[in-house]
Amino acid sequence: MSAEIIDGKAFAATIRGKVAEHVARLRTEHGLTPGLAVVLVGEDPASQVYVRNKGQQTEESGMASFEHRLPAETSEAELLALIARLNAAPAVHGILVQLPLPDHIDSAKVLDAIDPAKDVDGFHISNVGLLATGQKALVPCTPLGCLMLLRDRHGSLAGMDAVVVGRSNIVGKPMAQLLLRDSATVTIAHSRTRDLAGVCRRADILVAAVGRPEMIPGDWIKPGATVIDVGINRIPAPEKGEGKSRLVGDVHFDSAVQVAGAITPVPGGVGPMTIACLLANTLTAFCRAHGLAEPEGLTA
Ligand code: NAP
Repeated sequence: MSAEIIDGKAFAATIRGKVAEHVARLRTEHGLTPGLAVVLVGEDPASQVYVRNKGQQTEESGMASFEHRLPAETSEAELLALIARLNAAPAVHGILVQLPLPDHIDSAKVLDAIDPAKDVDGFHISNVGLLATGQKALVPCTPLGCLMLLRDRHGSLAGMDAVVVGRSNIVGKPMAQLLLRDSATVTIAHSRTRDLAGVCRRADILVAAVGRPEMIPGDWIKPGATVIDVGINRIPAPEKGEGKSRLVGDVHFDSAVQVAGAITPVPGGVGPMTIACLLANTLTAFCRAHGLAEPEGLTA
C-alpha cells in the first residue's frame, strides 16, 4: 500500500486564490483593501527570504503590503514605537513581527504590544487564551494550515484519535487546541513521553512537530493514518555533491508512505500553507475590524 501524497503546494495556491477573490470583491463592493505590515529587524538571511515571500504573496492576493526593515541595532523602544504606530494605522489590519528578534529585544514584550485584533500570527496571549477557551481567535498560521489539510481530507475530525508530537507555543499546543475544537481525541507527546512509538501507533491523525530529522519511522504509524509532517530539517546530501544538503521532515517519509493512508511531503506539504494562512488571517482580521462576514473555509 502507498499513501496518498497531500499536495500542500496546490492546496495553498487554492487558499491564496480564495483570499484574492474575496479581496477583489471587497474592493468592488466596499472600496476597501486589507493591509498587512511585516516588520523585520536585522539581516538574518532566512528571515529576509521569508519576509520577501510574504510581501510578494500579499501583493499577489491584492492586499496592501507594508514592509518595515529595521537595522539590527534598533532599540526595543524604537520597535515598540513602530508597533504602536501600526496598531493605530487604519490601513493596517495585520501585523507580523518576524522572529527571531536580536538578543537585546524582549520578543515576548514586543508580541504582547501588538493589538490582538491585528495579531495575524496568533501569538498574543489574548489570542492564545481565546483559542484555549474555544472563542473566536486569530490562530497561528502553521497549525491552521494543518487543520485545513485535515478537514479537506476527512471532513469531520470528530472522535478521531489525534496525536501531536511536540508542545511548542507556535505549533504543537495550538495544533492540539484546534484538533480538540474539532472534537478529535487529542494526545500531546513531547520529549518526556513514555513509549512514544506506542502513543503514535494509536493515532488516526499524527502531527509531527519536533524538529528532528526523520525521527518517526513507518512502523510507528497506524495503517491508514493521516500523517502531517510539520518538521523542516536540513541534512547533508553528499549524493547531490560535496557540501550539498536537502530538506527532510520529522517523519521518515520512505517507510511512512508504505503504511499511512495519506501523508504530507517535505518540502511541498505543510510549508506552503503557512503564508497562505497568514493571508487568510489578515483577511479575517480585516473582516472582523469592519464588521463584515468572515471568509468561509479560511478560519479555524
Ligand atoms: P520546538 O519549539 O523546538 O519544539 C519541539 C518540540 O518537540 C518540543 O515540544 C520538544 O519536547 C519535542 N521533542 C524534541 N525531541 C523530542 C523527542 N525525542 N521525542 C518527542 N518529542 C520531542 O520546535 P517548533 O518550533 O514547534 O518546530 C518544530 C518543527 O516544525 C521544526 O522542524 C520547525 O522547523 C518546523 N516548523 C515548520 C513550520 C512551517 O512549515 N511553516 C513552521 C514552524 C515550525 P519538549 O517540550 O519536551 O522539549
